[in-house]
Amino acid sequence: GLRYSENGSYSRALVAESFHRFLSTNTGRKLQDKVALITGGASGIGKATATEFINNGAKVILADIQQQIGQEAAKELGPNATFITCDVSKESDVSRAVDFAISEHNQLDIMYNNAGILCCNPPNIVELDMAMFDKDMSTNVSGAMAGIKHAARVMIPRGSGSILCTTSVCGMLGGLGPHAYSVSKFAVIGMVKCLASELSKYGIRVNCISPFAITTPLAMEHLSKMYPHVDAHKVEEIVNNLGVLKGAICETNDIANAALYLASDDAKYVSGHNLVVDGGFTSFKNLDYPAPDQVQ
Ligand code: NAD
Repeated sequence: GLRYSENGSYSRALVAESFHRFLSTNTGRKLQDKVALITGGASGIGKATATEFINNGAKVILADIQQQIGQEAAKELGPNATFITCDVSKESDVSRAVDFAISEHNQLDIMYNNAGILCCNPPNIVELDMAMFDKDMSTNVSGAMAGIKHAARVMIPRGSGSILCTTSVCGMLGGLGPHAYSVSKFAVIGMVKCLASELSKYGIRVNCISPFAITTPLAMEHLSKMYPHVDAHKVEEIVNNLGVLKGAICETNDIANAALYLASDDAKYVSGHNLVVDGGFTSFKNLDYPAPDQVQ
């Protein structure tokens, strides 16, 4: 409670202190004063997560190759958002983004390796373009690895931190996406377990989130190439009808909520985990039994 200061009135500092405590414990501000770096933060899942993190008291750095969209996103999110240009396929860019977080805010609590690309490689292995394969790998796999490496560099001395990656249901079952993309996501789910192992002794948690299909620019671009003869509205409808859970579609906010949980102390004992947000899609397959009256 409040105490009287020497001159008999409530001290401003004490009021501020209790208000701060009230905010962080009573209004669900789960990331009060935490600093988060989000790659691919200019759009889609990254931007939705930045919004959620800021609403929960965090300071967020958006790191993305899309400079203009990223700057606009940071402006839209307000004073607790900053943008830095960063190509995650270049280790020096990732290192610079982590150093920027430290120079701006003196610490890095949450590293979200979310940037990703989906190259439209042909679905048949014989025609696979190895250069495109390498491109997918350098952003999705090397980008995440560099993110973990440089986040660990600054988190290890503090003995705490939460590292997240966006993987995909494409990294859990074959056949859901182009080979290069799927292989890259399988690799990152494995990477999370490998690095959770090493970093556990420093109190650093490493987890990933595997979303189902969401109508972000990444998925829309890919699907539009599969259905070049229909408009964006129809493609959206196709994406939103791919799921198995009636009455719901997968949205960027569903992933932002999962990221908030994993980033916060609510998940203080969760590490090496793949939090699947797919409406059950990868958990079951309904057998197509013939109807009894059609079996003699
Ligand atoms: P999005 O297109 O809205 O956002 C992706 C962002 O990553 C873009 O802003 C893009 O500029 C950025 N980016 C791409 N390459 C980069 C690089 N080399 N360095 C820095 N930034 C880079 O798409 P999204 O759906 O929000 O994608 C985020 C993540 O979610 C990706 O890793 C993607 O694979 C994953 N994912 C998406 C879906 C889906 O259906 N949308 C499903 C599962 C997983």
